[in-house]
Amino acid sequence: MAELAEHAPQKTDLKTTALNTLRSVFGYQSFRKGQEEVIHAALSGQDALVVMATGNGKSLCYQIPALCFPGLTLVISPLISLMKDQVDQLQANGIEADFLNSSQTPEQQQQVENKLISGQLKLLYVSPEKVMTNSFFQLISYAQISFIAIDEAHCISQWGHDFRPEYTQLGGLKAAFPNAPIMALTATADYATRQDILTHLKLDNPHKYIGSFDRPNIRYTLEEKFKPMEQLTRFVLAQKGKSGIVYCNSRSKVERIAETLRNKGVSAAAYHAGMETALRERVQQDFQRDNVQVVVATIAFGMGINKSNVRFVAHFDLPRSIESYYQETGRAGRDDLPAEAVLFYEPADYAWLQKILLEKPETPQRQIE
Ligand code: ADP
Repeated sequence: MAELAEHAPQKTDLKTTALNTLRSVFGYQSFRKGQEEVIHAALSGQDALVVMATGNGKSLCYQIPALCFPGLTLVISPLISLMKDQVDQLQANGIEADFLNSSQTPEQQQQVENKLISGQLKLLYVSPEKVMTNSFFQLISYAQISFIAIDEAHCISQWGHDFRPEYTQLGGLKAAFPNAPIMALTATADYATRQDILTHLKLDNPHKYIGSFDRPNIRYTLEEKFKPMEQLTRFVLAQKGKSGIVYCNSRSKVERIAETLRNKGVSAAAYHAGMETALRERVQQDFQRDNVQVVVATIAFGMGINKSNVRFVAHFDLPRSIESYYQETGRAGRDDLPAEAVLFYEPADYAWLQKILLEKPETPQRQIE
């Protein structure tokens, strides 16, 4: 009883603080599904695994605890471009946030380090390859680390679609910061991937939130190919200037489709891994700023896209897996407004997919796929 009496007011305080922060700092009235429970878990010191559909609002799940805790929160994120976007948004809300990654000059990094040492930072975004280095540990010994968020946590798993070897080192965080709760977040993780996240990160009795994958504002349609280029062009023209992505499975097709669309008066740009980095960055930025309507791309056009008003995602070829289909179409309608996902298919695509799969080493993962 005594324990209950002690805990009851504290929990109410946490709830009030979290809600007040949502309203006063971010300007939103109420939490979305799942947000409140994971925020409360973090605030009461519990580790958490958060699987939440794209666009649902994962960022607030760790940003609000970060603001409620004393000291500094580390946010580990693999995407340099997203880090900058997030930090810009936080700073615009008056929050002391910054990032450290390889895109910065030594002077810029020094400025961030100075802020950290003088206790001016609430959130520090950092890349996974940086976080486990001796120099970084030395730096953060100046700070009180209260909380750690690991974004895109599926990258830790070889079962996931985006395995990043540098993520496997993050298993050392728990031992290094035993008192800081860890929150691992991702938009997609099947059962095997979730197990990998839990074991590799050594999460301690974590609160698990596994949200629905449903994206009710996206309309999914399948269309059998008979004159594929015409079908695609008709579909894109019917979108009347709205922003969209067309995925296909080869660089030459990317170029060809982009050109066909341009010939029809659509503002379209190609994007694939064979293009120079500077050109790729320009295409991504033009798309982000609505200077280009359609990006025709291979899967190289991926995780770094943080554009809320993508109105359609068209697949000119069959995607490689259900997981990648979900990820790729998930880039549509992040603003909750209606969006279209259309998949053009033909039996020959299946043979292509099977060939790709058979070229992979014989592993249990291949068996599953
Ligand atoms: P995710 O990382 O899950 O894809 P984000 O964190 O980028 O999603 O959030 C998607 C959008 O939803 C952002 O514009 C964010 O500000 C908004 N958002 C998040 N939580 C809420 C909320 N409780 N009320 C209203 N809008 C929210």
